[in-house]
Amino acid sequence: MAKEQDNFKQVISHAKEYGYIFSSSEIYDGLSAVYDYGQNGVELKNNIKNYWWKSMVQMHQNIVGLDAAILMHPTTWKASGHVDAFNDPLIDNKDSKKRYRADVLVEDYVEKINQKAQKEIDKAQKRFGEAFNEEEFVTTNPRVLRYREEQKTIMERLATSLTAENLADVKALIEELGIACPESGSKNWTDVKQFNLMFGTKLGASADSATDLYLRPETAQGIFVNFANVQKTGRMKIPFGIAQIGKAFRNEIVARQFIFRQREFEQMEMQFFVRPGEELKWFEYWKETRQKWHASLGLGEENYRFHDHEKMAHYANAATDIEFNFPFGFKELEGIHSRTDFDLKAHEEHSGKKLQFFDPELNKNYVPYVIETSIGLDRMFLAVFSSSLQEEALEDGNTRTVLKLPAILAPTKAAIFPLVKKDGLPEIAEQIVEDLQWDFNVIYDEKDAVGRRYRRQDANGTPFCITVDHQTKEDHTVTIRHRDTMEQKRVAIAELKEIISQEIDFKTWMKR
Ligand code: ATP
Repeated sequence: MAKEQDNFKQVISHAKEYGYIFSSSEIYDGLSAVYDYGQNGVELKNNIKNYWWKSMVQMHQNIVGLDAAILMHPTTWKASGHVDAFNDPLIDNKDSKKRYRADVLVEDYVEKINQKAQKEIDKAQKRFGEAFNEEEFVTTNPRVLRYREEQKTIMERLATSLTAENLADVKALIEELGIACPESGSKNWTDVKQFNLMFGTKLGASADSATDLYLRPETAQGIFVNFANVQKTGRMKIPFGIAQIGKAFRNEIVARQFIFRQREFEQMEMQFFVRPGEELKWFEYWKETRQKWHASLGLGEENYRFHDHEKMAHYANAATDIEFNFPFGFKELEGIHSRTDFDLKAHEEHSGKKLQFFDPELNKNYVPYVIETSIGLDRMFLAVFSSSLQEEALEDGNTRTVLKLPAILAPTKAAIFPLVKKDGLPEIAEQIVEDLQWDFNVIYDEKDAVGRRYRRQDANGTPFCITVDHQTKEDHTVTIRHRDTMEQKRVAIAELKEIISQEIDFKTWMKR
């Protein structure tokens, strides 16, 4: 745990030191759970958005984009259920005065049991080596079976009490399990209460005539209310999808863990409209497609796992989370939900407008069913950033800090150095920058010894360093050094564009 915390601290300080993430309004001591993305952060974020957008909109003829407003008619949130049911169950510890999400306390407890089971599996793996059959072990080993049963019983009880809004039972469960406040170790808990997560605001000049609005807590509803507009003007036929990237706001009470849980964040969501009855087929399709998207970035298969929901949201008939191994353990990165026709039907009822599709093959109108894929952009940022940050031991006994970002996402694709600040080398390096910047984000750097410049770029995740030396003047060649292998090659200046292009080719990445 201590090591995990150290790693996490290092991620946070590296993100600040290299201009990725700052606390919001830091000169006023910051605003809790709100963050700003710096000069490199904004580039990485844009590249992640682009990678998602292209994979959704450009690569699917039946998916189109949308950019709906953050402020929406207040009835939207009545229809969606957010006014009545967008609540977190909260519990306070009376001694430490710390507030927690009751469901998260229980989930963390269950995760500890999971880790015990995993330890048994790892131990057995070591003991049996090659001959180890994990499948057989987990289905027969009495200890693992007991842990798994315990996990299941607790999660089912939590799901049942939350679905029935039986908050007294959630508290009883916390007490029965002997869960203590992680800060103080105290088991002195208040009752569990529901707390609405939407931020309210006002529209209008005078206090009396102002209308109460909400900052949207998810981007999805902007898609649902535009279903008919997009379907008709785009002449879309079912199945089709609408994708959107945008800000969402939640008044998270327990907002820790850096950009993982913020009060203002960005979502990348796609709602896929399908024939009723075909939703589970499409649910599987999107589970697989999204898994491939994640795998293509090479952050490590072992860092992902699926978590099927025991407790469905009120609108869903199937749901799974893609969880990522963040520096503080496996947590939700993306949700894939089969939302039935809940949202469109609710908007039909509240607006009095038809939100249906005439299916020429079936010769009838219906309200489509929806599969949603919803990923937090900031969480994806944290997944990419934290898994890329590595301390590497070098052959000469030194270590280097290297941010092994997928090259396609790296803020700067190449740094161009003159070996020395004289003899006409800076001019040649500047000329290379001028040529390459039409196609890529590149930078010029002439400060410090070349070795230190390399280290700086390694720590910033730049895939290539290009050095101009005296030989360049004779034969128009430069050395190009690759961040991950540290290998240096002599290549012609004329080849640089092609070399960098290949490394960040969208098709090559997506097909990995
Ligand atoms: P959690 O259980 O972690 O609160 P959620 O299930 O409420 O998340 P959804 O409503 O399914 O999340 O939102 C979809 C995605 O939006 C999540 O998978 C997550 O990546 C992202 N997200 C949700 N809340 C936040 C937040 N407060 N800060 C950053 N990202 C968030």
